[in-house]
Amino acid sequence: MTADEFAALCVPASCTLHDALARLNDTGRGVLLVLHPDGRLRRTLTDGDLRRAALAHVRDTERIEALPEHPPITIGTDATMPAGLAVLDRHQIDHLPIVDADGRAVDVMFRRELSQRIWLSSPHLGEEETAFVEDAFRTNWIAPLGPHVDGFERDLASYAGVGHAAAVSSGTAAIHLALLLLGVERGDTVFCSSLTFVGSCNPILYCGAQPVFIDSEPQTWNMSPSALERAFAWAKQEGRMPRCVVVVNLYGQSADMDAILPICQRYGVPVLEDAAESLGALYKGRASGSFGRIGVFSFNGNKIITTSGGGMLVADDEALVQRARKLATQAREPAAHYEHVEVGFNYRMSNVLAGIGRGQLKVLEQRVAQRRQVFETYRKELAGHTQLHWMPEPAGDRSTRWLTCFTLDGPHASVKRDLVLRYLERHSIEARPVWKPMHQQPLFRGAPYFAHEGGDLSGSLFDAGICLPSGSNMTDEQQARVIEQLRRALALAEDTRAAA
Ligand SMILES: *Cc1c(COP(=O)(O)O)cnc(C)c1O
Repeated sequence: MTADEFAALCVPASCTLHDALARLNDTGRGVLLVLHPDGRLRRTLTDGDLRRAALAHVRDTERIEALPEHPPITIGTDATMPAGLAVLDRHQIDHLPIVDADGRAVDVMFRRELSQRIWLSSPHLGEEETAFVEDAFRTNWIAPLGPHVDGFERDLASYAGVGHAAAVSSGTAAIHLALLLLGVERGDTVFCSSLTFVGSCNPILYCGAQPVFIDSEPQTWNMSPSALERAFAWAKQEGRMPRCVVVVNLYGQSADMDAILPICQRYGVPVLEDAAESLGALYKGRASGSFGRIGVFSFNGNKIITTSGGGMLVADDEALVQRARKLATQAREPAAHYEHVEVGFNYRMSNVLAGIGRGQLKVLEQRVAQRRQVFETYRKELAGHTQLHWMPEPAGDRSTRWLTCFTLDGPHASVKRDLVLRYLERHSIEARPVWKPMHQQPLFRGAPYFAHEGGDLSGSLFDAGICLPSGSNMTDEQQARVIEQLRRALALAEDTRAAA
């Protein structure tokens, strides 16, 4: 609903029933907001109210104020979507006005929108995948392992320009294996980007190791080379050299590898590249995920391509990848009687899911183009909103824009962020804050953290950042709905700040 459409729903109590009926007819939302002269909500007016008035022989030249008083059911601007839904259900109504602290109507929650939810990033599957899955059934390769696993590994390694790949059950499993392959043991230190999803660093805890978190830098939102440099100086002094550095590429954008890799090289510490969110991205023309000693991808349901759940570990070192495959299949020794000498895991990807992955990989370039198009549309349509800053894409890189993200400026950014998120949620649009950094998570309380010069950047990205629905299968109408609602939400957030 645009600001104009919202304004069209608002009428004064002096409006005649005839004019109100005409307005209901024009706006087609099933409800009007009857306002006091000072903008406070007096009541709502529905088709049902007008029907009852007609049955009671109230003439349509009468004014709305002649109808019996009818105190409105409303919720405040701080109400969440579930709270609003509970009120809709309790009163068996289909629309619910949202009022600010002064009782002024600012928005309406419509039941109809709730069934038309727009997701942050929903799976996007096509016919290619079906063909591969059918083949898996036809050839009776439903069992784990089979030709599609090998094929998916070959296809992905070749796409990413790395020597070898091992298909596993999730990105998190791939990271766990990668840490083990790099020799991470109980008591070891591991450096990791702070601004990330917990899947990047839960495996550090599986290994009994201790994470040290590194802040972001503003050009990529990814690991700050200067904070990394300071963390190494500290580690050297403390005698806590990390076993490896987990460098995360967020939201489809590569970290600044040319700055990060030489630092790690200088200290002789390998890089584990968490490219779970950056499959399809390019850093100076080269595939994201191919820069670390080991790279990791995810095919979880919300990623740019998906196998419903899955992951891939890639490396140029064939021995390393072979060892990953072994650890992922219960560390079985090559003997018919299942010989075991070390701890293993059940982490392999199944043949059916690998079939889906092969189909998805064929459309990856298309998906990248679609996500970038979604971003371009947001940028173009919201260009007038100067308080909004898009996640940067350094010249020479290709972000996939897996998620379109922006930050709000100003001193009340986190208040505005929450207001905007609640607003979108009430209209059944799934948007989210930027990742809450790991150094702020209770799970990692006490873990050392190295901030970017000038202060905690990942903390402020979290405070001010929002991720918008960015699915490659979003329709133009859906994106227009997001843009429309976002414009209203931003305007309201600005007003609130002015009032504060
Ligand atoms: C999704 C994700 C993971 C974990 O991948 P799963 O396949 O969900 O286990 C790890 N790191 C990052 C940055 C992610 O976004």
